[in-house]
Amino acid sequence: MTALHDKFGRPITYLRLAVTDRCNLRCFYCMPAQGIEYVPQRQLLTYEEMLRLVRILAGAGVRKVRITGGEPFLRRDLMPFLSRLVATPGIEAVRITTNGVRTEPFLDELYALGIRSVNLSLDTLDRDRFAQITRRDELPAVLSTLEGLLRRGFEVKINSVVMAGRNTDDLIPLAELTRELPIGVRFIEEMPFNGGGREVQLEWDYRRILEHLQTRFPQMEKLPDPPHSTSLNYRIAGHKGTIGLIPAYSRTFCGSCNRLRVTPLGKVRTCLYDEGVFNIRDVMRAGATDQQVLDTIREAIAMRAPNGFVAEQRRLQRSSSESMAEIGG
Ligand code: SAM
Ligand code: SF4
Repeated sequence: MTALHDKFGRPITYLRLAVTDRCNLRCFYCMPAQGIEYVPQRQLLTYEEMLRLVRILAGAGVRKVRITGGEPFLRRDLMPFLSRLVATPGIEAVRITTNGVRTEPFLDELYALGIRSVNLSLDTLDRDRFAQITRRDELPAVLSTLEGLLRRGFEVKINSVVMAGRNTDDLIPLAELTRELPIGVRFIEEMPFNGGGREVQLEWDYRRILEHLQTRFPQMEKLPDPPHSTSLNYRIAGHKGTIGLIPAYSRTFCGSCNRLRVTPLGKVRTCLYDEGVFNIRDVMRAGATDQQVLDTIREAIAMRAPNGFVAEQRRLQRSSSESMAEIGG
C-alpha cells in the first residue's frame, strides 16, 4: 500500500487518537468550570473500531500513535486496548498524554507493554495555582505520577500551557526542574480551544517565553530539532533535561507536520485547526471495507490545508467553541 502524503508532499506517519472526551480536571484553557457536554458512550469510537483504524493506517505507513483525550485513564479497559495496540504490526511507538491524576497505578503495566514515553500536563508546581487552573486540588497525585515515571525510567515530557496572568510566575520554577531531572519541559502557547468560545489574545508567544527564560538562564543553548518536531528545543548549560517551546498558536511548524488526528467521536482532522473533515466512525459503521476506509482518509489528506491559518479560515464556524478534550491536543 502506498504511503499517505498530502499534496504538499508531507508524509503522514503519526496518529493522535483521543480515546475519550471525559476528564477529571477542568483546566481553564480547555473547558469551562461546568465541564463540557459529554457525548453518549455509544457515539464514541469503540476499541475495536480504533484498532481496525490503526491497523489500516499502519498498513499505509503510520508508525507512531499517541493516546490522548480527554483523560485517557478514565476510559474503561484502557490497558487491554493498549496491549492490543502495541502489538499492531507496523506500529513502532505508542505514547500517552495524561494529566497524571489517575495514572500512577498503571505505570508498571504500561512499562511492561513497552510504552516508554509519557507526556504529563503540569502548568505549575504551586498547589493553590494548580487548583485555580485545573479547578481541582490534585497536584499531589500528579507529582506522585511524575516521580513514579522517573523512578521506572520512562522518558517524560512535561506540557505546560502558558497563560497570561495565571502561571507566568511558574515558568522559571518549571524550567528549574530540568537542572536535576532528565525530562523535557515544554511550554505551549495557549490555543483558543477552551470549550467556551473564549477568544485568546496571545500575550505570551514563544518568543516572549524564550526571552523571559533567558533573563534567568542566559546560557540557554539551541538544540537541533528532530524531524517533524513541534517544539523548538533548548538546553540550559549544565542541566540534565531540556526545554521546549511549542508555537501552537503561532503555528511555525506546519511545514513539516506529519500528524493525523482522530477525535473520540471519530472525526478525522488533518489539522488541529480544521473542523474535522469527515467522520470515520460513520464510514466504518456503514460497512466500508478496509480499502474504502483508507481511500476516504487518503482523500481527506489530499485536501489538507497547507497550514493552520488556512485550515482556520476554511472553517464554517470561524471561532471555535470546542474544547481540547474533544480534539486531543
Ligand atoms: N487530559 C490529558 C492531559 O491533559 O494531558 C490529555 C488531553 S489534553 C487535551 C492534551 C494536551 O492539550 C495537554 O497537554 C493540554 O495541556 C493541552 N491543551 C489543552 N487545552 C489547550 C489549549 N487551549 N491550548 C494549548 N494547549 C492545550
Ligand atoms: Fe482534562 Fe487535559 Fe483538558 Fe485539562 S487539558 S481539562 S486534564 S483534557
